[in-house]
Amino acid sequence: YKSLYGLVSHYIKDDALRQVFTFQPLLIGGNPFRAPAIYLLIHWLERKWGIHFAMGGTTAIVRGLTRLLGEVGVDVRLNAPVEHIEVSNGRAKGVLLEDGTFLESDIVVSNADPAMVYTKLIDASARRKHSDASVARKRYSMSLFVGYFGTKKTYPDLAHHSILLGPRYRELLTDVFDRKKLADDFSLYLHAPTRTDPSLAPPGGESFYVLSPVPNQQSGLDWATEGPRYMDRILDALDAHHLPGLRENLVTQFHVDPTYFENELRSYQGAAFGLEPTLRQSAYFRFHNASEDVAGLYFVGAGVHPGAGLPGVLSSAKVLERVVPQPESKGQMISVPEAVSA
Ligand SMILES: Cc1cc2nc3c(=O)[nH]c(=O)nc-3n(C[C@H](O)[C@H](O)[C@H](O)COP(=O)(O)OP(=O)(O)OC[C@H]3O[C@@H](n4cnc5c(N)ncnc54)[C@H](O)[C@@H]3O)c2cc1C
Repeated sequence: YKSLYGLVSHYIKDDALRQVFTFQPLLIGGNPFRAPAIYLLIHWLERKWGIHFAMGGTTAIVRGLTRLLGEVGVDVRLNAPVEHIEVSNGRAKGVLLEDGTFLESDIVVSNADPAMVYTKLIDASARRKHSDASVARKRYSMSLFVGYFGTKKTYPDLAHHSILLGPRYRELLTDVFDRKKLADDFSLYLHAPTRTDPSLAPPGGESFYVLSPVPNQQSGLDWATEGPRYMDRILDALDAHHLPGLRENLVTQFHVDPTYFENELRSYQGAAFGLEPTLRQSAYFRFHNASEDVAGLYFVGAGVHPGAGLPGVLSSAKVLERVVPQPESKGQMISVPEAVSA
């Protein structure tokens, strides 16, 4: 098969243009040099349907979904981590929360990373296909370093989205994906939502996040030490080349690194997008929406078909409508309150 970069290079000779037309798989955790060319469709989809922004930011989408869940009667429990999925005779029976509460259910639908769910929440004796070794053999996406910051100055010439390509491309991606090394240079995605929605910063100010692909937790990097240094380097580079006066107009900043993805979002190896989208880990070859090991256990989210990114994740939930058997006594739709979401 042809890699995405291979296909683009067939038509485009200029190195800079090759980068411009091939970085898109990074948005879903893929390395353009080995992601199959099918992922060029990301570029096509952006051209065809446009790039959308929720006014109020991603939080507005979360609020909308929360409202919808309330309207259909779903009981949402926050800060209630699942410690264990109870399996009996090969069938999911419910979930045990970290506070000791057991929630019995007909089915379990998990939105958590399947690699983590299989290896941490389900006894090894209940798994034949997804053993610890088989999960470890898969290839996981890179992680992310995300720096959030605000300024007391506006940058009217700045676009909402900027991709700032560094001096190296293939080699930098090899550092990130394969050598698991934090490089001295970086390529950045700079997001300035206040360019579209000024309500996201006080008047006269601007809010940003800057995202840099970094190795996942297989790197063994000590982020408590590296994180603040990395943030400083990024802010210096932005100040010098893209956001003049940034340092003296900075009013707030914080960052998240691979430890956030590993410990807060609980993703395997701190990968930001679950499985890396290679040919053999795409579509049917991702974790399946219905568990092969545990009857009554279903998955949605970035790790399963069709893949990472909000459209993919929401599509995985739509897929589930067809995958979960319809209990005859409960009419056409599964009765949502009886499903426990992890
Ligand atoms: C900085 C950044 C920018 C992005 N920008 C875009 C964008 O512009 N467009 C786009 O489409 N995508 C974007 N993405 C990607 C997108 O956000 C992700 O692909 C998507 O959020 C993944 O959704 P998910 O539900 O699979 O996983 P998550 O959002 O990680 O949700 C999983 C949830 O499960 C919880 N959980 C895990 N384990 C347990 C447990 N044992 N018990 C209870 N809860 C548990 C986690 O805490 C987490 O809240 C971006 C990602 C990042 C980091």
